[in-house]
Amino acid sequence: MRMVDLIIKKREGHALSRDEIAFWIDGYVNGIIPDYQTSAMTMAILFKGMNEEEVINLTDLMEHSGDTLDLSNLKGVKVDKHSTGGVGDKTSLVLGPMVAACGATLAKLSGRGLGHTGGTLDKLESIPGLRIALSEKEFEDQVNSIGIAIAGQTQSLVPADKKMYALRDVTGTVESIPLIAASVMSKKLAAGTDAILLDVTLGNGAFMKDIDQARTLAKLMVKIGNGLKRDTRAVLSNMNEPLGLAVGNALEVKEAIKALHGEGPEDLMELCYIAGSIMLVQAHIVENKAEGRQMLKKCIEDGSAFNKFLEMVKAQGGDIEYILHPDKFKVAKNIIPIYAKARGYIHNIDALAIGLASMTLGGGRETLDDVIDMAAGIMLEKKVGDEVNEGDVLCYLHSNKNVTLINRVAKEVLSAYEIKPERIEKPQVVLEVIE
Ligand code: URA
Repeated sequence: MRMVDLIIKKREGHALSRDEIAFWIDGYVNGIIPDYQTSAMTMAILFKGMNEEEVINLTDLMEHSGDTLDLSNLKGVKVDKHSTGGVGDKTSLVLGPMVAACGATLAKLSGRGLGHTGGTLDKLESIPGLRIALSEKEFEDQVNSIGIAIAGQTQSLVPADKKMYALRDVTGTVESIPLIAASVMSKKLAAGTDAILLDVTLGNGAFMKDIDQARTLAKLMVKIGNGLKRDTRAVLSNMNEPLGLAVGNALEVKEAIKALHGEGPEDLMELCYIAGSIMLVQAHIVENKAEGRQMLKKCIEDGSAFNKFLEMVKAQGGDIEYILHPDKFKVAKNIIPIYAKARGYIHNIDALAIGLASMTLGGGRETLDDVIDMAAGIMLEKKVGDEVNEGDVLCYLHSNKNVTLINRVAKEVLSAYEIKPERIEKPQVVLEVIE
């Protein structure tokens, strides 16, 4: 078999057999097939797609490209949550401790930022000292002792996704339903959890641009998960505007801390309550979602969710002084306000433009080796549906870059806001639930 023939086969729109996909994935993980051939293959898949059998084979081969975790010795039903990515999406940092505080066992393998979207691992790494590279034993021990761990894939867990994820990020091959489904589900299945809640984001700040694409992706992943006897459910959530107010790593961690203290933005909290109540049902902790919501509200009010986050940070070597006193996080040199040019209501905040702007300000990677500036990003002051007067601050740019660059970004951010005279309702954050 030759990799070039497989690339051509997919380029011409034909289905790949299990053996052919295995040849590619094994060769790629073992360094025999180079990045450039995998880039060409992922680009061919992006254009020509894969049928369901191909996606199931790809997921299975990626899952077994390294070790898999066996969490069957751990107590309780193990639940996991995964978002397909967005702008300002710090949900895992809030939702994880919330469900763990309610007694669920959360064993989560997360990813880094992809394209214009942020990644939970990068966000966590803005907490000084915090280790995301846990060994399998450390991961299991931590889940067993405190009921929660959020870590990156180790070298041995799903190495195929680890390599391919980083490559897709810089080769324009992220927005593919089969590749996203296989990437997400291989990680979730390898992590050995019993139940999976998928947050499939949609809108211009997500990889799925409309509800039909998002539903197709969600149903495919739910089918793969349930087919393998994991209770898999999904929510479809709005990513036409950033989630919450903070975009950028340390800024988002600070917002997550506030949310755990009960001062989170409405859309973020609503997503956490809806997704969390489904997870508590999946974990057999509550009988129905209404009961789950009550329980989640209580764990915010009584501080147990915040304490769970503290425990997790401590267990992973993070400096908890930053969590107790978020003012300790380094702040960017330049904090530049963006002012509204007209009076009216905000109809749209282009999440993609905000995500790209945050990256340019230093908050994301443009190439594999870029180093993220944890302090960089954007703090929104206004969201869709809010009324503004001319001269009101719409948001603040946080950056350590030079002023010429920041001024260029400022123009892009201003044009990301659409202000019209007519009043508009705030959008719903969860658009559909697939159970
Ligand atoms: N999240 C993932 O884990 N993988 C993707 O491909 C996209 C989003």
